[in-house]
Amino acid sequence: MSAGERLSRARGAYLGLAVGDALGATVEFMTPAEIRHAFARQGGMHREMVGGGWLRLAAGQVTDDTTMSLALGESILAEGRVDALAAARAFDAWMRGKPVDIGNTVRRGLVEFRRTGNPERSVSEHDAGNGAAMRVLPVALATLGQPDPAVAEAVRRQAHVTHHNALSDAAATTLALMVQDLVNGATPPELLERRARPLAAIHPEFAFGGRRKENPSGFVADTVIAVFQAFFGSGSFADCLVEVVNRGGDADTTGAIAGMLAGARYGEDGIPARWLRTLGAPVRAACAGQAERLIALANT
Ligand code: MN
Ligand code: MN
Repeated sequence: MSAGERLSRARGAYLGLAVGDALGATVEFMTPAEIRHAFARQGGMHREMVGGGWLRLAAGQVTDDTTMSLALGESILAEGRVDALAAARAFDAWMRGKPVDIGNTVRRGLVEFRRTGNPERSVSEHDAGNGAAMRVLPVALATLGQPDPAVAEAVRRQAHVTHHNALSDAAATTLALMVQDLVNGATPPELLERRARPLAAIHPEFAFGGRRKENPSGFVADTVIAVFQAFFGSGSFADCLVEVVNRGGDADTTGAIAGMLAGARYGEDGIPARWLRTLGAPVRAACAGQAERLIALANT
């Protein structure tokens, strides 16, 4: 694996995250039946980055999944490492900027950080939402090359600012390690054995071999199951993304996470050019540029 190829996969992961977020947001909180009906004239499938949705987004506009990742990534670059307090301050500043959407657990966690100054929430069985997993990409890129336990520790540091929960930790860690494996050239069958099946063996909540997960909620296991089914069951970036967002539910987040994995798998060139165009130059530059700087940090 050449350095250039690794960089293309890292950039692809970040651009894929944004593309999946923008594509999925159109159908967030819709059921598959509602999507089939709304897109009847497109053959019953949502396939283009047209904006709209409950947030009334512009075509190509991204949501919290992408903008929280970018905020976290900037804090990592400023500190030279994943630092809990710096991450909490970055998320707090992000929230003050009136983002288009914000998860309940994220809001609650950041309000508590403002009150206490403590960047680590206490353990909660209710924090098993997907909010920490959806923003894990900059940690994965910044810790590329480090041993798995060090990666996991860095993942938890950022996650616990808002979510302190074993299932959230397990999902975020597994996804970060999968991105790293993919950037290093691993194949999906290898990831299935090395990461996805072991996750489901330790936490049966993540068992993804059953029936198709439709209308996935914000529960992190719902998200991961939908993403794994789409990612391991498809052979291209576009197929993976269309497959996952048409399941509806928390579709911007399943789209973002599936886009991160598929972008790392197929590289920047695997992302349809029309989707990258619609994303717009500022978001493209922010994502691709941050991916490069995080990889440079990992190489120091
Ligand atoms: Mn979102
Ligand atoms: Mn969402």
